Amino acid sequence: MSLAMCERCNYQKILEKVGIKPTKHRLAVLQVLGIAAHPLTAQDVFDALKACRTINRVTVYRILESLVEGGVVDKISTGDRSFRYGLAPNENHPQHAHFYCRLCGLMACLPPESLPLPSRSPSSVMPGIVEKYEIRLDGVCHQCRLRHS
Ligand SMILES: [Zn+2]
Ligand SMILES: [Zn+2]
Ligand SMILES: [Zn+2]
Repeated sequence: MSLAMCERCNYQKILEKVGIKPTKHRLAVLQVLGIAAHPLTAQDVFDALKACRTINRVTVYRILESLVEGGVVDKISTGDRSFRYGLAPNENHPQHAHFYCRLCGLMACLPPESLPLPSRSPSSVMPGIVEKYEIRLDGVCHQCRLRHS
């Protein structure tokens, strides 16, 4: 897992803002998602945490679901039954699209400027107010293309 440290997000404040009590485990889950360079599976989060603390898989899944419900974590579909988890967009992390490799399951964050994203402000073409959305581009990653050529 490649890591890109984020020093800007205050996870405690992020949780308090949506009324979720910032327990040690919840903060740890957010931290793992926050430093990952791409969205993670629940198993990835569990693996990262079990290295340094006693936490069981069920707790990790439950925490992820509650963070998704609170809107601080995004649950990103892959097109099949598996999901990836990543920090929801906030003032430090703009909304961005994801690339998904249908062969190896890699999911990569795309730079926000790489593709125009719809605005969240009310518009006449929308039948309602957009609260969240996800944009996923599916394909075959460079590594898989080399391997299968
Ligand atoms: Zn951050
Ligand atoms: Zn691939
Ligand atoms: Zn992302």
